Amino acid sequence: MDLNNLKSDPIVVLGGGFGGLATVQALLAKSDGTSVILIDQGNRFLFKPLLYELLSGELQLWEVAPQYSDLASELRFIFLQECVVEIDEIEHKIITSSAIEITYSQLVISTGVTTDYSLLENLQDYACGFSNLNDFRRIKKLITKINNSSECTNPIVIAGAGPTGVELACKISDLIKDRIEIYLVDKGDKILPSCKSFNREIAIDAIDKRNIKVYLDYYIKSVDKTFLELSSTDHETNNFIKIDYSTLIWTAGLKPTKSKFIHHFLNKNQKIKVNEFMQIDEYPNIFFVGDITSCEKTPFPSSAQVAMQQGSLVAQNIISLRKGNELKPFKFDDLGEMLSLGIGNASITGYGITLAGPLAFEIRRVAYLMRMPGFLLSFKSSGSWLISQKIINRLFSQSP
Ligand SMILES: Cc1cc2nc3c(=O)[nH]c(=O)nc-3n(C[C@H](O)[C@H](O)[C@H](O)COP(=O)(O)OP(=O)(O)OC[C@H]3O[C@@H](n4cnc5c(N)ncnc54)[C@H](O)[C@@H]3O)c2cc1C
Repeated sequence: MDLNNLKSDPIVVLGGGFGGLATVQALLAKSDGTSVILIDQGNRFLFKPLLYELLSGELQLWEVAPQYSDLASELRFIFLQECVVEIDEIEHKIITSSAIEITYSQLVISTGVTTDYSLLENLQDYACGFSNLNDFRRIKKLITKINNSSECTNPIVIAGAGPTGVELACKISDLIKDRIEIYLVDKGDKILPSCKSFNREIAIDAIDKRNIKVYLDYYIKSVDKTFLELSSTDHETNNFIKIDYSTLIWTAGLKPTKSKFIHHFLNKNQKIKVNEFMQIDEYPNIFFVGDITSCEKTPFPSSAQVAMQQGSLVAQNIISLRKGNELKPFKFDDLGEMLSLGIGNASITGYGITLAGPLAFEIRRVAYLMRMPGFLLSFKSSGSWLISQKIINRLFSQSP
């Protein structure tokens, strides 16, 4: 690909996650012929909600993480595997770690968030997150090691009882067949505080059935190589618990990925405060999408669903800006929520249904696959399981 031979300055999208890819897809659908360049530091899109199924082998890497090069040739955009290190907002340029400079006409920044290891001393050395393929590989190795060993080790501690902590606890527990205790720690007074109540109830049930112990109103105060200390959030009782642990998985805090080049945009909460059009006022040619954003006027959660809806809107706003038309404000349309709760199990609230169990698991899997960027590509390669007799039988032979 020769970047010098582009007919005009391209629209550049930084970060090929849910937000970035949704923007690219919507831009291509509304195309006015301007080139669209997607830049990501990795070579694969990662469908994070299906990481648990990748861990359990219920889905394979090619289903959960298609290569950008395949998506680019299917959807017809230019892909560049580069790490962006600098933005020159005045000259409308981005600069990558291998010193490639690209002048943009409009820029979309959707570089997402990752585990924040700065929240506690020693965390970087002793904990593992669960937000990318490297984390997945570390935890997969751990599960294999546990299953190949005859000894039972100290508990696995998971910090954070939000969706990632709860879903991961259930899946790991099933994968190690309850052989090792899992401790789920959260400083709040309930698990899944922002989830729908039906899903929370089903999740509580799923946890009760497994070898998972929940510590609510506790936070991890310190961590060392072999032990960690929990402290009660109630300063009057001032309870401490010392735990000899085998593995610490941290799902209790996120920060922007490689934040240096967007550092000046971030507020004290490590978010980019955008206006309702997903811009900041100083630079109307730059749009922001996904987990790095927050908006005071119309607050929205951080989720794949939000990132995808923002991506579509931003593409529409870029076209409007180029044509001199009015921009549209972002409004989140909550379609519902799905949780993975162990092998072959899930819970769904929304999408017109409230359902838990194996059928919910199949519906979740199919619903997510249909949201996979370049769905036609996935459809071709994974048609075998999507249209499999098994799923069709399940969908039509069971009543919710
Ligand atoms: C385990 C897990 C399960 C989840 N389950 C759900 C769920 O069930 N439902 C739901 O709605 N949400 C879920 N989420 C949240 C959802 O995945 C995120 O909200 C979503 O990915 C945010 O999209 P994004 O585009 O902002 O960022 P991301 O999808 O994280 O993408 C950011 C991209 O930017 C790239 N990047 C970063 N910095 C640079 C740089 N300097 N140069 C080049 N590229 C860069 C990264 O490589 C990455 O590909 C889950 C998250 C996790 C971790």
